[in-house]
Amino acid sequence: MFDSLSERLGGVFDRLRGRGALSEADVRTAMREVRVALLEADVALPVARSFVDKITEAAVGQQVLRSVTPGQQVVKIVHDALVDMLGPETAELELAVTPPAVVMLVGLQGSGKTTTTAKLGRLLKSQGKKVMMASLDVNRPAAQEQLAVLGTQTDVATLPIVAGQQPVDIARRALSAAKLQGFDVLMLDTAGRLHVDQALMDEMKAVAGIANPAEILLVVDSLTGQDAVNVASSFSEQVPLTGVVLTRMDGDARGGAALSMRAVTGKPIKFAGMGEKLDALEPFHPKRVAGRILGMGDVVSLVEKAAASIEQEDAERMAQRLAKGKFDMNDLRAQLGQMRRMGGIGALAGMIPGMKKAQAAVDQVGGDKVLLRMDAMITSMTPKEREKPELINAKRKIRIAKGSGTTVQDVNKLLKMHQEMQTAMKRIKKMGGLKGLMGLFG
Ligand code: GDP
Repeated sequence: MFDSLSERLGGVFDRLRGRGALSEADVRTAMREVRVALLEADVALPVARSFVDKITEAAVGQQVLRSVTPGQQVVKIVHDALVDMLGPETAELELAVTPPAVVMLVGLQGSGKTTTTAKLGRLLKSQGKKVMMASLDVNRPAAQEQLAVLGTQTDVATLPIVAGQQPVDIARRALSAAKLQGFDVLMLDTAGRLHVDQALMDEMKAVAGIANPAEILLVVDSLTGQDAVNVASSFSEQVPLTGVVLTRMDGDARGGAALSMRAVTGKPIKFAGMGEKLDALEPFHPKRVAGRILGMGDVVSLVEKAAASIEQEDAERMAQRLAKGKFDMNDLRAQLGQMRRMGGIGALAGMIPGMKKAQAAVDQVGGDKVLLRMDAMITSMTPKEREKPELINAKRKIRIAKGSGTTVQDVNKLLKMHQEMQTAMKRIKKMGGLKGLMGLFG
C-alpha cells in the first residue's frame, strides 16, 4: 500500500510546526510529495504537473490554522483543488431533445462500453423512459449478441440483428426503428478499438454525423494510467464528447484517470461503474475520488458516514476528546451503546483500529450479549477506574469480574481492547486531532 499523502506531508511539516504562514519553500517541498502522490494514483504526468503549479500559487502565504497541522492544511488545499477540478457531482444526461434522444458510447475495447450501455439503458428505463439499445460493433465476434443478452436481462429492447450490416447502416436502421416505434432514448454501443485507430475513428465520426447524438460518452477504464491523456485527447479531438463514464471504480484503482480525463476533455465525469452487475452504476462523487487520489478514501467515506449517523452532540464531544488524545472507559461505553443502537460499529469508532476487532468479536459470539457484558464490566468499575483504567489491579479485576458476572479473562480482554484504542487515539492526536481530519472534508 502507498503511504497516504497526509502521512508524507506530516513528515515534511513536522519540522515546520509553529510558523505563521506557509512559505514558498515549505509549499514547494510539500508539492513534491503531492506530485508523487498524484502519479502513484495514476494521474497522467502533464496533468499532475499543471495541477501542482496551480495549487502552489494558491497555497503560498496562507495562514496556518491553529486547529490543524500545516501538513493537513496543505492536504486540504490539495483536496479542495482536486474536488474543484474533478467537477460537479452529476449523473444527469441531457436528453431534452425531440425523441429519440441518441446516447452514443465510445471508447477502447474492453473499457466496459457494452456493459455501461446496458447499465444506462436499465437506469433510464427505471426513470420511465422507453429505451432501445443497438450495438454497432461488427468487429468483435458476438458483440451484438452480447448486447441482446444484456437487453433480455434488463428488459430493455434491442435492435434486431441483421447479419453482415455495417455500422453506419445499423445506425440508420436503429434511428428509424426508434422513431417509428416511439422510443424516447436510443443507446448506440460503438465498436471498440484496442488502441486509437483512424479507420474506426472515421466510422465513429460517420455514425455521429448520422445519429446526431444528444450525448456522446467516453467510457474509460479507471485503471488506465499514463495512457489516459492519449485516449482522452484522441477521442475528444475526433468527436464532440459530452461526458465521461469511468468504469471499474469498484476495484483498487486510485482514481487518477478521473483527473486526467477531466483535465484533457474538459467534460464532466457523469457516472462511475462499480461492478459487473447491471445495477452497479453510480453518480460520480468528486469528493470521494479526491480522497482516493490522496490515499484517504476510507477516512472520507467514514467521515461521511459519521456525519450521517451520529448525533451532532456525540460527535462534537467525541471530537473534543479525540483532539486531546483521550479515550477512557466512558468513551468506550458510549461507543458500545451506539453499536448496540445502530446494530453495527459506530461510524466514528470505525476509524479506530481496535474497534473493528471488537465488532468482529461481537459478530462471532452474537451481538447484544457481548455488548451487554462489556457494559456490565464497565458499570462495575469505580468512576475513577473508568477514567483511568490503568489503576485496575489484579484484586480489582477479580471484583469487577464478580460484580459483572464475568471472568477475569473477560476483564483482561476488555482492558486490552481499550488499551489498543487509546493508542490509536494518541496517534490521531499526533496528526492534529480528528476535528482537524474532519475539517479537511467539510
Ligand atoms: P467493451 O469491450 O468496452 O464493450 O467492454 P465490456 O462491456 O464487454 O466489458 C469488459 C469487461 O469488463 C466485462 O467482463 C465486464 O463485466 C467488465 N466490466 C465493465 N464495467 C465494469 C465495472 O464497472 N466494474 C467491473 N468490476 N467490471 C466491469
